[in-house]
Amino acid sequence: MKYNDSGMKIEYSDNRKVFNIHTDGIPCLSFDMLDKLGVPNLFTTRYISYDEASGTGVKGLRTAVMKTEKVEEASPVCRANRDILAHQLGSSLSMELVTDQKHTNYVHVATCEEDLGVATVGNFTLHRQFVDGIVTDIPGALLTVFGGDCPPVYIVDPKRKAAGLVHAGWKGTLGKIPQVAIAQMVVKFGCDPTDMYAAIGPGVCKDCYEMGDEVYDAFAEQWGKEDADRILKRYAPGTESKAFARIIGGSGQQGAPDGKYHLDLIAANRLTLLRAGVPADHIEVSNVCTMCNVDTFYSYRGRALENEQVAMMVNRFGD
Ligand SMILES: [Zn+2]
Repeated sequence: MKYNDSGMKIEYSDNRKVFNIHTDGIPCLSFDMLDKLGVPNLFTTRYISYDEASGTGVKGLRTAVMKTEKVEEASPVCRANRDILAHQLGSSLSMELVTDQKHTNYVHVATCEEDLGVATVGNFTLHRQFVDGIVTDIPGALLTVFGGDCPPVYIVDPKRKAAGLVHAGWKGTLGKIPQVAIAQMVVKFGCDPTDMYAAIGPGVCKDCYEMGDEVYDAFAEQWGKEDADRILKRYAPGTESKAFARIIGGSGQQGAPDGKYHLDLIAANRLTLLRAGVPADHIEVSNVCTMCNVDTFYSYRGRALENEQVAMMVNRFGD
């Protein structure tokens, strides 16, 4: 299923309209649920610009400094692009809170103005190293995380006017990072999970996300076998994941040898949010896979490694 309301080609796994597509300025998606709450939010694509009439655009949006790059050279470009995106949300980088992301489940709690806009080294600032999520109650603070295939999880509490944004790769998901963020919001800001809303952003889909047996074992150990069996399924031998087949299709290789476990990151994080007390009808989930849509998104597994997407959200609720 493709939505064509902006011309941008995105393949959805079902027929739900989860996102609004914006092609004014730097093209990006936003969660309709968060838009309706008045929370400025976005998720980028590979496009710098997009022409709806011709269905073409300029690609190569740099937002994150990659490990292979010289920080001094890449950082100004990435920061300049992130500043444009911040302005699209009515904010600026002077309000940014950003993580360096090491596949942990550590969450930084930002409560003072001194935390804002101090990302001077690469993507991040030194006192926020080794965290994969941030929660804040600072009005107007801009939260930023990056992802190649790992979905971001947006969490807001409109009552207490607090927000959290986490990077949930398989290790952060295993460590229940959305629950860690929610617990911090409860303890530090007096939030009640039943007032919260959460949205799980685009990432790699279960069909594309093959894992070794050790990942199943880790989930079975930490989550229990019953939950592990809900979110990890062993695909039958000979099953070929669609995106994997497409990527190697022209190379003459055989399709993916399957019979491996596949992890459903979206379902896993949804389960964590539910267990943390967020009501089911307050949770929205992405139906867009970064690897199935490798023309539109950077994807680690899809071998589109030049950059990552950026997820942003402003701790603001309406005007
Ligand atoms: Zn996929």
